[in-house]
Amino acid sequence: MSDPLLFTLVKVVIGAVLTFWLYRDAKARDYSGILWGIAPIIALFSRFIFAVPALIIIFVVYLIIRPKGKLIKCPHCKRSIHEILFQCPFCKKDAKRECIRCLEPVPWEAEQCPYCKSRALTKGNT
Ligand SMILES: [Zn+2]
Ligand SMILES: [Zn+2]
Repeated sequence: MSDPLLFTLVKVVIGAVLTFWLYRDAKARDYSGILWGIAPIIALFSRFIFAVPALIIIFVVYLIIRPKGKLIKCPHCKRSIHEILFQCPFCKKDAKRECIRCLEPVPWEAEQCPYCKSRALTKGNT
């Protein structure tokens, strides 16, 4: 027995939104999880009563295993990216500079190194 049309619509919408959100979040963290790819398959091929709990479980598992940390805005394309990334996963430009003296990554907007106070920073690949 298959789901009524309304249930089918609801689970497909949840699957599509979840896939889109997981894809964006995984890419922002430069984390190539496959979980976001399974969401629409579950939504399409499982009955409502299984699909919705399965999608919720995927969402919760993803939140637990994804790389932790804050998202910052890419200084070039303004999309959200994980703060530790040196290169933006979306526009492939450098999201940080490097201190020439102590080799620490430095925020793009910084004028001097927060660690050794040197003003010798790389220009970054833009
Ligand atoms: Zn970018
Ligand atoms: Zn430094």
